[in-house]
Amino acid sequence: MLIDLVIGRRLLRVAAVFGVAVAVLLLSGSQGAPAAAPAPVNVLLVTIDTLRVDRVGAYGSRAGLTPAMDALAKQGVVFEQATVPVPLTRPSHVSLLTGKLPFQHGIRDNFSFSLGAGHRTLAEVLKARGYATGGFVGAFMLNAQSGLNRGFDEFDDEFDGAGRQSALIAEHQRLAGEVERRAETWIERAASGSRPFFAWVHFYDPHSPYDPPPPYRARHAGRPYDGEVAYTDSVLGRLIARLDRLGVRGRTLLVVTSDHGEGLNDHGEAEHGFFLYETTVRVPLIMRLAGSLPAGLRIPREARSIDVLPTILELVGASGAAPPGIPGRSLVTAVADPGGPAPPSYAETLFPRLHFECADLRSIRLDGWKYIEAPRPELYDLRGDPGERTNLYAREGRRAASLRSRLLDSLGGSLEAGVVGATRPAPDAETQRKLASLGYVSGSRGSAGADPKDSIAPFQAYTRAVRGAFEAYDRGDLQTAASGFEAAIAGGRAGFDVYFYLGAAYLGLGQAERAVAPLQEATRRNASYTPAAIELAGAYVRLNRADDATAVLRAALSSDAGNFQLHSHLGYAARLRRDLALARQEYETARELNPGDFDVRMNLSSIYRDAGDAPRALEEVEAALGIRQDSADAYNHKGMLLGGAGSFLEAARAFERAASLSPKNPQFWFNLGLARFREGDRSAAADSLRRALALKPDFAEARALLAQVAGK
Ligand SMILES: [Zn+2]
Repeated sequence: MLIDLVIGRRLLRVAAVFGVAVAVLLLSGSQGAPAAAPAPVNVLLVTIDTLRVDRVGAYGSRAGLTPAMDALAKQGVVFEQATVPVPLTRPSHVSLLTGKLPFQHGIRDNFSFSLGAGHRTLAEVLKARGYATGGFVGAFMLNAQSGLNRGFDEFDDEFDGAGRQSALIAEHQRLAGEVERRAETWIERAASGSRPFFAWVHFYDPHSPYDPPPPYRARHAGRPYDGEVAYTDSVLGRLIARLDRLGVRGRTLLVVTSDHGEGLNDHGEAEHGFFLYETTVRVPLIMRLAGSLPAGLRIPREARSIDVLPTILELVGASGAAPPGIPGRSLVTAVADPGGPAPPSYAETLFPRLHFECADLRSIRLDGWKYIEAPRPELYDLRGDPGERTNLYAREGRRAASLRSRLLDSLGGSLEAGVVGATRPAPDAETQRKLASLGYVSGSRGSAGADPKDSIAPFQAYTRAVRGAFEAYDRGDLQTAASGFEAAIAGGRAGFDVYFYLGAAYLGLGQAERAVAPLQEATRRNASYTPAAIELAGAYVRLNRADDATAVLRAALSSDAGNFQLHSHLGYAARLRRDLALARQEYETARELNPGDFDVRMNLSSIYRDAGDAPRALEEVEAALGIRQDSADAYNHKGMLLGGAGSFLEAARAFERAASLSPKNPQFWFNLGLARFREGDRSAAADSLRRALALKPDFAEARALLAQVAGK
């Protein structure tokens, strides 16, 4: 659909929007001269989390919250009816960045395993095309664990508190300004390089809690969500202005969109994830590429976030690089024919089931109509009733049935097919039975639960009640947290996450016995949430039930095969069972999957040492120190290896580092004293041993060695 217009030495990529699409090659000026190679197009993709369409001026808001987006809309193309296939941050971003629906990529909830290696992301595709790639995210659920870091040369996902495990992952976020600063630095460097760049910038601010920074807090007093939107738009404006200052605006495709909207109590929903109404499923989608996309074009036909990947690839001249079999379709055809037909837009949410024991929801939107599959199905005429107030299901039975069959088509024939995941090989009967017993094949259960419509009020009350427990967990008050989680469970309908954090709280309190039942329940309710399996295995390990730990970890591998942590924990369980050959094999697999994990390297070093392979043991501890230079334990371990090999001088150096990093550890000073003694430096040895004894006066070995050192 795109036509290359070569004008002089300049090449513009222009969409065929003016009537008939005819390929025209204009060679003016230098007739017959070879055409210049197409200038590579940079890509800047900005996702503004939780952005409700009706807060954006370009989508009809009069509140003046979004001057940057509104200006962009005038310079580019506005997709008026864009939707996402799932109103949850992680699965929605995965769909955007893979062009696949949730049941195809397998990421259905924010609590999820990493994206499988078989799914190619936009970053991977563009990197393979020679792009410099940088990702900058503002929220914990999009961190490297999500797998969305794949394909990025630089991936920036540092958060305050990301080191501690937290229930309120939603609150581990960075201000948009901080994300933008880091992205800007990278873009500036990338723009001066010889390769085109792809940057993905994610702003999380409009997500709850709504707490805009000044002056937006005061300016939008009483409407903090609007304040967050206004603040984020101002940061977006700064980022866009940077493209101008760098002189790359004309050859940078800019895409601005969101992962979902926000309920703000419409339909009774405070936030998002529970329903599939337009308040949360519809999102802004604006694209600008001067010369290729017409300025100010508004497209009324439906567009899907899964279409963004193929659209970007077409606009940068890389259509052929689209991963095979993706359902997303390039929207460049919509630019040529804004009112033309569009494929159906599928959406789902398993959140009501996973978090509140209700039925799953699935919907299909086509030609301005929307059908929602629920225990009490719904049908809306979005053109006449954009607020989805009047359910026409009973009146328009034939239309509803036709849309339902389109929904089933999207799912490959049955609702259950959509649950297992179309891209997974069909499991054999035995595996299927096991998965079913784990609650994994849940299509029938999913539609058999209570209708979310009838559960929104109790769900909101439950959310408020359980929030206190999550906050207690976050500040380390595990006893209060555990009581709060127990109360939520006693209330009747708790999500798997409550069972998970209850178990984690008991583990943290040293009550492994009590942790087992809630963790078992969490894995039963959401078998694809690997951390629940890992915590359960941890509880078993503490109870000396290494066989049970192994069984749980092996089961988790069936849905999350590429997870190095599972192999690492299997290695640990094998060591407990004194199966050193298996332990070694599991840790080596973990290392292969993630060479950058400190603990895996340290454990391998111990295993090689125990097997008498000192050189490899040393190699691993060196690798560990390459990952974490400030680890006193690693230096101590290295010193022991060197000392064991008779290299006392080098061993002493390693112990010195350990002792200087952790000067209050008497063991390190003792080891240093011993190494110095063996090396022949008695006075230095005595100094070190005295330090050890000063820290631990009843350190018998240190006292004995000091006597020996002083003895002659
Ligand atoms: Zn989100």
